[in-house]
Amino acid sequence: MSYPDLAEKIFLHPRPWILSGAGISTESGIADFRGPGGLWERIDPMAYFSVEALNRNPAGFYSLGMEMFDLMDSAYPNEAHMVLGELQQKRLLGPFVTQNIDSLHQKGGAQMVYEVHGHLRTATCIKCRRTIVGFQELSRMVRGGQVPPCCDCGGMLKPDVILFGDSMPDDYNNARSMLNLFKGLEPVVIVLGSSLSVSPINMLPLEFKEMYIINQGATMLDSRAALRIDGRAGESMGLLKEHFIDMNGGQQMECLPAGFLPGLLIRGMDMAAEGLAKAASRKPQIVEEKCLAEGLMVKKAMQAYPRRSCRQPLEEYWLNQVESRAGDLIARCGRGGRVVPLAAASESRLLTLLEDFVRTAVQAAEKYQRQARYEPRVLKELMLQALGAAGLLEYIAENGGLQAHMLKVRILEERIEGLAEASGIELDSAKALEDI
Ligand code: NAD
Repeated sequence: MSYPDLAEKIFLHPRPWILSGAGISTESGIADFRGPGGLWERIDPMAYFSVEALNRNPAGFYSLGMEMFDLMDSAYPNEAHMVLGELQQKRLLGPFVTQNIDSLHQKGGAQMVYEVHGHLRTATCIKCRRTIVGFQELSRMVRGGQVPPCCDCGGMLKPDVILFGDSMPDDYNNARSMLNLFKGLEPVVIVLGSSLSVSPINMLPLEFKEMYIINQGATMLDSRAALRIDGRAGESMGLLKEHFIDMNGGQQMECLPAGFLPGLLIRGMDMAAEGLAKAASRKPQIVEEKCLAEGLMVKKAMQAYPRRSCRQPLEEYWLNQVESRAGDLIARCGRGGRVVPLAAASESRLLTLLEDFVRTAVQAAEKYQRQARYEPRVLKELMLQALGAAGLLEYIAENGGLQAHMLKVRILEERIEGLAEASGIELDSAKALEDI
């Protein structure tokens, strides 16, 4: 297994999710729990970082905890955080789910991060639940001798992190319900720097169609991984980025168009080829005709793809891949130069797949907006991705003369426009639809 394989997976399964653990931050100087030199070798975290320990011995929690928390607060993102943040911003990666409490993904540029074990940015009074102080204030109180630090009501202030024995935060439920939406699209996940031994989050990768693991040392789910790299997170992400730059003719990557989804087009054609292979013994003409029409539709669409002459090399490479897959599909139909009306693709599985993708992207934006805490810039990005996918579907359907799909997609577009209006976000829908 190598980085080119991982890069290919990222394009073939659009916008994989990331699940990260403490191992991704060791290169920023923060010890993990179970790796070599990890905290577990020195102390039993259960004895200090559980709800029970905090109630029994708050001074113990704060005397050991604050040192570690101060270190996390002042840490800088390393190469892994920086590359991952960049790849999410450039639309190669989907949401991040992190077990870490150090905010280093956000400092590395990531915008959509579910912090399933909480974070250190604030602390809340465990009695009145009303007082919330920033981390700097909490740290100042502890350094000034207030151990444990308390609110005016007399309740103890607790950092908004999940201790052993705490219930899971909203981010955990939000991440799960967002993932549930994507189930039908067979999402994949890249796990980085986690031994996958803390439940329930270590079960999350099993909910994806495939998982790829990058970790130094063994994890609990190695036998289930479709791809495994034993390596340091920073170095691995550096090599992955280098590979993308190589593919891009030595240039830094620009942000991909929101509707640039070659993996979906390839999957659609692979599905058609599978259908063809299954039908091979009986050779029903109708299957062949549909596949041929689908191949011809995609080939024609790729040849006239918008802005084809000024694409970055990485995009050009994938458009060529799609075109050549379409050529293979046409060849497999074995019908030589026989003319087949493009309308034979009217029940195209590729268009159904694209339609499912657009619907899911629209629902994802709507679901995100219903979260108690949402960031307008992330919502805007989700809306742009939904409109970009809608634009791709429109382009392919229009190119094949299949108007029926246009009506359904128009209704989905209107939902995004309504969402933009309701949330006060300005969107140039026409421009976003062309961003394919
Ligand atoms: P873990 O300690 O159980 O596992 C970390 C894994 O990462 C180990 O297998 C280790 O060998 C590997 N590793 C160490 N350095 C690496 C590197 N540079 N590149 C790749 N792999 C590396 O961590 P976990 O699975 O996240 O579970 C521990 C729990 O402790 C989590 O709940 C987390 O919230 C918490 N924790 C968080 C932090 C943080 O926020 N930075 C630090 C310590 C612990």
